[in-house]
Amino acid sequence: MTGPVWWVVTDLDGTLMDHRYDWSPAADVLRDLRRREIPVIPCTSKTAEEVERFRAEVGLRDPYIVENGGAIHGETPSIGSWQQALGPTWAELKPQLQHLAADLGEPLRALDDLTAAEGDQLLGLSGESLLQAQRRCCSVPFVPPSTTLRPRLRQLAAERGLAIVQGNRMAHLLGAGVSKGRALKVLKQRLGVAQVRVLGLGDSPNDLPLLEAADVAVVVPGPEGPHPALLEGVQSGRFQLAAFPHAQGWADAVQRNILDV
Ligand SMILES: [Mg+2]
Repeated sequence: MTGPVWWVVTDLDGTLMDHRYDWSPAADVLRDLRRREIPVIPCTSKTAEEVERFRAEVGLRDPYIVENGGAIHGETPSIGSWQQALGPTWAELKPQLQHLAADLGEPLRALDDLTAAEGDQLLGLSGESLLQAQRRCCSVPFVPPSTTLRPRLRQLAAERGLAIVQGNRMAHLLGAGVSKGRALKVLKQRLGVAQVRVLGLGDSPNDLPLLEAADVAVVVPGPEGPHPALLEGVQSGRFQLAAFPHAQGWADAVQRNILDV
């Protein structure tokens, strides 16, 4: 049996969704991908619960990568739903955030400690949506410190055998070696699809390992342009730059690279 030729492996927040979590400009292209049985694989900082809700809205049945590569999930006819952890658990990581705050000399607020008002203000999430984002398995998102402190914090994390990546709003504490790119490689191995071509799409520094692992990589800009950390890859020609922000740029890039070919 030959598998699909393409996988679309995509970040969600800031890439397929704008900052109000709207993906509607990509609805037609998502429908075309489904009709052509081209998998759309979310690869996101979001939790499994959040991705499952999104998959149900869009009608996706493909595997997915959660919490910045902390775990992969899928459904296989013989065994049903499965998940595979790829790094330390949230319970192992959470105390480390307070150690890092002490090392840094600055308080660091974890996403799961935010009040409802803070969650609404910082993330635009409330009620069950906020709770789904706060129930983590294998990463600790937190409000990032000022940009000047970030290199030092990354250094301190590395000294503790941990990694910190920057998403479009939150920073994320992960086990060393946990990344979206590594999770993609593990997922391909697990499903035995070494030959599949990956169209990877992302908007933030935490997407770099995904973009680097993709066969075709697309940086999706915001209304102000692409993230500065991804510019070098665009300027060197390794990454394409989508022509429009968020879902509109996502849909256009998928159309040009896969559907129109
Ligand atoms: Mg993003």
